[in-house]
Amino acid sequence: VHRNPGEPEFHQAVREVLESLAPVVSRRPELADAAVLERLVEPERQIIFRVPWIDDDGKVRVNRGYRVEYNSALGPYKGGLRFHRSVYRGIVKFLGFEQVFKNALTGLAIGGGKGGSDFDPHGKSDNEVMRFCQSFMTELYRHIGEQTDVPAGDIGVGGREIGYLFGQYRRITNRYETGVLTGKGIGWGGSQARTEATGFGTVMFTERMLATKKVSIDGQRVVVSGAGNVAIYAIQKAQALGAHVVAFSDSSGYVVDEDGVDVALLREVKEQARGRAGDYADRRGSARFVTGGSIWDVPCTVALPCATQNELDADAARTLIKNGVVAVAEGANMPCTPEAVDLLQESSVLFGPGKAANAGGVATSALEMQQNAARDHWTFPVTENKLQAVMDNIHDACAATADEHGQPGNYVLGANIVGFNRVADAMLAQGVI
Ligand code: NDP
Repeated sequence: VHRNPGEPEFHQAVREVLESLAPVVSRRPELADAAVLERLVEPERQIIFRVPWIDDDGKVRVNRGYRVEYNSALGPYKGGLRFHRSVYRGIVKFLGFEQVFKNALTGLAIGGGKGGSDFDPHGKSDNEVMRFCQSFMTELYRHIGEQTDVPAGDIGVGGREIGYLFGQYRRITNRYETGVLTGKGIGWGGSQARTEATGFGTVMFTERMLATKKVSIDGQRVVVSGAGNVAIYAIQKAQALGAHVVAFSDSSGYVVDEDGVDVALLREVKEQARGRAGDYADRRGSARFVTGGSIWDVPCTVALPCATQNELDADAARTLIKNGVVAVAEGANMPCTPEAVDLLQESSVLFGPGKAANAGGVATSALEMQQNAARDHWTFPVTENKLQAVMDNIHDACAATADEHGQPGNYVLGANIVGFNRVADAMLAQGVI
């Protein structure tokens, strides 16, 4: 804590992983000898830079940019960029730390990193977003590369932003290096199913957890928080598998739609019009928009937090348990507080931690990198089948490891141990660097 002051999210993420690792560390003394844990909590490189840009009124604005290149033992740094006013070093470090284990869990050759800026895209014009992205990339380009560090999207960074970032990278470097960013458009190096991958993967993971209890997702009553990239495609996949999705949210409030969320309308409001949750309710008779209170008050059997960190606390967990929740899977990164996770696990609710449950996004980014390297394009079904296989493997590896350690059904323990062992083995083999 004294080396990383004022970074509570980073402390929270590290504590959660280290708590799971006690049984591994006691079995493997070579880890302590090589100071693997001490090295793992220290990012390999942290870059902080000024991002000046000019708004539509001609006024100069200044934001702060970050890229934390956390760990490259398994492959080039890989992880998204977040543009949100709450971004500061502690958030980027927590996300980078989580990313290292998540990427290891996928079994693909990717290290972990994360970046972003305190730039808030809400209410900015397309031109302002473009000028910001161009300025951001004017510094970032020297740190990234297809063999070095491969950023992608996250909160506030979707297809539009990746396009502007890629355009500026190409212009500065005079290289059409598609493998430098993922989440690109289909016509210029992007992968089928990447947009859908995180949300789809979260639901695939949930389905597999439920199957261990001989329960189907078909017919479950589902609440999904958020209304962004992850949430929209989690809703779509859950519905495709027969679930009844009754609520979603954004930072302005939540919407309850007892007829089932209309994904086409939600996409129109969010992806095209860049509107608010209330705009959906205005256009749909069966929906009501609620401000204040918590989306987790809406009764459900499956809860998928897909918005942001620490959005589901102990009170929300108690409400969910009281209402008969069977499974909770984290589409977002660290959306459940540690107290909420403890309560859910104590009540035998199936709990899928983000590292495992939302790894489908980065896994499909790695598939995008494979296609870029081979100058190939796979179809949607081919890519989705590969995603399904990755999610099933992650689930089964976590479950088997939890069993092995005498804690069946503890996916937190399983995910942390599987991810850690893969990274630690590579670090041990590569010496003290
Ligand atoms: P988006 O920006 O597309 O959507 C984020 C959604 O969450 C928006 O509806 C936003 O509402 C809402 N939200 C954000 N912050 C808050 C807040 N403080 N309170 C309430 N609502 C909030 O981001 P993504 O869908 O890409 O990311 C969501 C989560 O999933 C993040 O935790 C991210 O790290 C994680 N994730 C994303 C992956 C990806 O592939 N995109 C991969 C793995 C994890 P509003 O617009 O009103 O701010």
